[in-house]
Amino acid sequence: MLRTHTCGELRLPDATKTVTLAGWVQTVRDKGGVLWIDLRDRYGITQIILEDGISSPDLFATARTLGREFVLQTVGEVVERKSKNPNILTGEIEVRPTQLTVLNPAKLPPFLIEDETDGGDDLRLRYRYLDLRRNPVRRNLELRHRMAQQTRVYMDGQDFIEVETPVLIKSTPEGARDFVVPSRMNPGEFYALPQSPQTFKQLLMVSGFDRYYQIVKCFRDEDLRADRQPEFTQIDCEMTFVEQEDILNMFEGLIRHLFKAVKGIDMAEVPRMTYADAMRLYGSDKPDTRFGMEFRELKGLFDTIDMTSGKGFPVFDSAPMVVGINVPGCADYTRKQLDELTEWLKRPQIGAKGLIYARVNQNGDVKSSVDKFYSEDDLNAWAAHFGAKPGDLMLILSGEVDKVRKQLGELRLEMGSRLGLRDPNVFKTLWVLDFPLLEYGEEEARWFAMHHPFTSPKPEDIALLDTNPGQVRANAYDLVINGTEVGGGSIRIFNRDLQARMFSLLGFSDEEAKAQFGFLMDAFEFGAPPHGGIAFGFDRLCSLFGGSDSIRDFIAFPKNNSGRDVMIDSPSPISRKQLAELSIDTTVETK
Ligand code: ASP
Repeated sequence: MLRTHTCGELRLPDATKTVTLAGWVQTVRDKGGVLWIDLRDRYGITQIILEDGISSPDLFATARTLGREFVLQTVGEVVERKSKNPNILTGEIEVRPTQLTVLNPAKLPPFLIEDETDGGDDLRLRYRYLDLRRNPVRRNLELRHRMAQQTRVYMDGQDFIEVETPVLIKSTPEGARDFVVPSRMNPGEFYALPQSPQTFKQLLMVSGFDRYYQIVKCFRDEDLRADRQPEFTQIDCEMTFVEQEDILNMFEGLIRHLFKAVKGIDMAEVPRMTYADAMRLYGSDKPDTRFGMEFRELKGLFDTIDMTSGKGFPVFDSAPMVVGINVPGCADYTRKQLDELTEWLKRPQIGAKGLIYARVNQNGDVKSSVDKFYSEDDLNAWAAHFGAKPGDLMLILSGEVDKVRKQLGELRLEMGSRLGLRDPNVFKTLWVLDFPLLEYGEEEARWFAMHHPFTSPKPEDIALLDTNPGQVRANAYDLVINGTEVGGGSIRIFNRDLQARMFSLLGFSDEEAKAQFGFLMDAFEFGAPPHGGIAFGFDRLCSLFGGSDSIRDFIAFPKNNSGRDVMIDSPSPISRKQLAELSIDTTVETK
């Protein structure tokens, strides 16, 4: 080894030892008679000290040639520091060198290799290997490593075996667009990269593997949003002879194990909520339950108020849904703030028509933006319905059921953020259950699988498949942490006929279903056991555990927002010769 110790290792009891350290020069502070070098590696920083009269002029001369990020090796004696630094673990000692060897000089890095850097996103991605030298980025990857290790500890302890499934597979419709790879040996034909190992893990259940998992790369060619990566990692799992309840318990166990082992947090049991309740109370299938502000619907309430006199507010009367939240302590919002909030809601991203508000003043009076339509009694009834106290502000939207719930869901999150109720170091978990099996695509005028086509309907709802497909609930579940979906799965169909019926509902002809999924349906005829599973978004889980909302910070070499790796400059063109070999450019002779 080119070192005897790391830069994070030496302590006071090591004083008088002769050691060899190697690392990168973080800083050089030259006070003339005294010169300090901070030497850094993954484990920490150790101070090297040169002093007039003690250190040779040669050492001073070498030290004065050093620049940031030079790779340096030093041999020296560990001594107790005069002025100690309690902020670092090596802060009680320093090393007095007898040798300084530059192993490799370095160009000036394009940004500061410090916790707070001056480099912008693009620059840091371009020089990602330098960005990765920074403590916060390194710590994120260390966290990711511990998450993966602890996942394996838990899964292995539960008899899951890790099986690798292929990366060159077949293009199939499963939600997103596939990345495809041309096959040189089969001209005109393509592999697809897996969006998930879904069908393979089901086949492993047919094979009798009983419990499978894999920490696996998946690929989806989707339009990129801020927090999406075209390739990402899942903890993918499947189990045989289980019902939904078994899966929930098993994977609640995984999440609690990870919280305990990685963060030292004793996580309470994961609460459960139906999809229908999540939509009704939070306007979202992934509610952030770190704070309340649950929805209150006003429609039913109005019926009990005197509306026959024609004093009703026409906007409310005509809307299928009138629903609001009570925002604690915000009654002092000024007219200007409320106007701004209204504008925020009207932006196309949210699309609300307007905002009605009612504040409960300190004396208990309720004052609203629709006072001329409603009496004091009416408004008091609202406040009682919302549980609004003096000082609170009720914010109310109206419109079509689904739309208005979604809009109010956004407003609730915004108010939660404004009130500081979304602390990234507080963790609230939730199972969302009983998702609808299907959702209707208006544009395509057909049904789509809400989870994927292999998800089993609830047995008691199967009869509805023919009469009212939209009402059929699935044996599907999502795990939500702090308003982010971190995992989802389902109990699967394992019966050929039901699977065929599902494909036909989704608009596949028999031939199409056979061409795309014949292998799976065939397998169902060879003793397929009941099975189910789940997959967790590993990058996202890591970012949540790290208290960040960017998954990019938890991936060693991520793509930028346009799906590019700006470091290796990919994607990039390939030669016409390559294209020709792949039978993509037929204008070039390959022979
Ligand atoms: N394959 C599914 C997905 O990627 C997860 C599952 O159903 O297990 O969302």
